[in-house]
Amino acid sequence: MAEVSTIAIDGPVASGKTAVGQLVAKLLGFRFLDTGIMYRAVTFGVIQRQISLYDDVALTNFSNSIDIRICDSGGNAHVSVDGLDVTGSLRLPAVERSVSLVSKIPGVRATLVTQQRAIAAQGPIVMVGRDIGTVVLHDAQLKIYLNASIVTRARRRFLELQGRGTPLEYNQVVKELQRRDKIDSERFDSPLHPDKNALHIDTGNLSVEELAMHIRNLTTCQR
Ligand code: C5P
Repeated sequence: MAEVSTIAIDGPVASGKTAVGQLVAKLLGFRFLDTGIMYRAVTFGVIQRQISLYDDVALTNFSNSIDIRICDSGGNAHVSVDGLDVTGSLRLPAVERSVSLVSKIPGVRATLVTQQRAIAAQGPIVMVGRDIGTVVLHDAQLKIYLNASIVTRARRRFLELQGRGTPLEYNQVVKELQRRDKIDSERFDSPLHPDKNALHIDTGNLSVEELAMHIRNLTTCQR
């Protein structure tokens, strides 16, 4: 394998992408970008401005008109939109409900993908999302597709929401997770699916540390 400087990690909701990706980046001294926060930032702005989730043109124009900045301070990304810090709003229930609908819009995706590629061009990076290996960083030297059973993912999500003080009933968590995965994997533009060169890893029985070490070791393997 050529020297690895770009790692693409994709997977469905609560597959462990962010925690694992962050740790891999730390172990390798690479930058880290969770592209989901960019779609969330656009979605929060859309909600604030009461733009219809079904108006493709308005959503595209809006995503083109805003200035999204991501600052990584000690592993915690801070996101601002037009100078306003929106970090604390990215996981609001309204954003959770709408983000997959906003992300379906090709114009929104085109805007964010351009920005993501510009960020990647600045040097070694671990980037996580839904279309990183298939679209955004199609040339990435290492592509990983993380997944876990619906039960494992729903349990993770359930605990995460509890920890955040926005609990949902377990059955509701399962439904919400399936709804988002369905929209993400059935959309016309850049649907969630593993790239043909991606290495599939089930995150159900491995700790974040074990997974991150495993991925880090892959970067030094000879092929
Ligand atoms: O990863 P996270 O759950 O924060 O992503 C939120 C949503 O953003 C996803 O459900 C998906 O609709 C969208 N997304 C995307 N492409 C990416 C990253 C996220 O469509 N690369």
